[in-house]
Amino acid sequence: MPRAAKKNQKPFALFFLSLTPDLTSYIKNQIKGLPHRIVPDVLTVDELDPKTEILGVFTDSKVTKDIFARLPRLKLVVTLSTGFDHIDLKEASRRGIPVCNVPTYGDYTVAQHALALILALSKKLFESVKRVKEGEYDYHGMRGFDLKGKTIGVVGTGHIGKQLIRLLAGFEMNIVAYDPFPDKKFAAERGFSYVPLSKLLGSADIITLHVPLLPATHHLIGKKNLKKIKPGAYIINTARGGLIDGATLLSGLQSGQIAGAGLDVLEDEEVMRDPVLIFGDKCDECTVKTSLMNSLLIDHPKTIVTPHNAFNTTEAIKRIIDTSIGNMRAFLAGNPTNNVSRR
Ligand code: NAD
Repeated sequence: MPRAAKKNQKPFALFFLSLTPDLTSYIKNQIKGLPHRIVPDVLTVDELDPKTEILGVFTDSKVTKDIFARLPRLKLVVTLSTGFDHIDLKEASRRGIPVCNVPTYGDYTVAQHALALILALSKKLFESVKRVKEGEYDYHGMRGFDLKGKTIGVVGTGHIGKQLIRLLAGFEMNIVAYDPFPDKKFAAERGFSYVPLSKLLGSADIITLHVPLLPATHHLIGKKNLKKIKPGAYIINTARGGLIDGATLLSGLQSGQIAGAGLDVLEDEEVMRDPVLIFGDKCDECTVKTSLMNSLLIDHPKTIVTPHNAFNTTEAIKRIIDTSIGNMRAFLAGNPTNNVSRR
């Protein structure tokens, strides 16, 4: 059972958040009255404080079994994100610690990023800008393709997938979608159809992923499904890196089966952020392989990779902070909201 906080108790909150000064002031203002410390970095064991009762993190901080063990007074974890695969939910649940997320801050924001990747790939925008900045004012080799009349396959029609479908309204594309829990009313309103995943993969010119990373979705784009993808399709991933097997994507890009990819997330992307993981004591064969794979994807001429930036707008971060502080206050009032640890 989640442990409710006692009334009038002022628990110590520790946050691992790297924010710009304006947003740091914003969050500080929101948690006024609560003892807290904000570490402007990802979570490290060295910065942990054993008196922590509330832990706040972004997706780049892993809250492992070991972290739970090091925080004996921990009563609540708030993640300033929708995804929560960076937190050991089993351990949280075993300890009766609620883990509260932000279910809906970024529908529009992330969908806008997916659309930006689609547009950038379709018009070779990144290469074009790079070329001009390098002094070559020449369009040869920069031919793109129209979105109008193409088929886009939306995998996962939750908050973000649906918002993308709304944004696509003006592009005159054919939309197909796959979701184990289809929203047929929404499909009828928006004029698209749900199809089985293999049909989506075989018919879409652009495949865009909007599903959580779960055992069932791990390497959704892997060896088996690669064969089903329409030759020359583009892949967009703004959800989680682990949805795509990097080796499969690389071989698809090499063979031309996949024409290009717009990725905001990479598998085990923390390795790319923290060179210590590659060059330090914790390095193992697996981290080396992952970082190599990710580097190959980043450097590939047919990819555009952004550093898990889809959520990152001022408006969205304010919404994230508002909901997270709301989650903390609800917990302190004895009624946790958006608790994902008991799923
Ligand atoms: P959501 O929970 O609203 O929707 C997820 C959808 O996926 C649901 O409709 C669910 O039924 C569907 N789904 C589950 N398993 C599936 C499967 N096997 N195949 C197809 N569909 C399946 O989540 P959301 O708010 O739309 O977010 C989607 C994901 O985007 C999150 O889980 C998170 O990982 C990611 N995200 C990334 C960023 C970023 O900055 N890049 C920001 C926010 C969210």
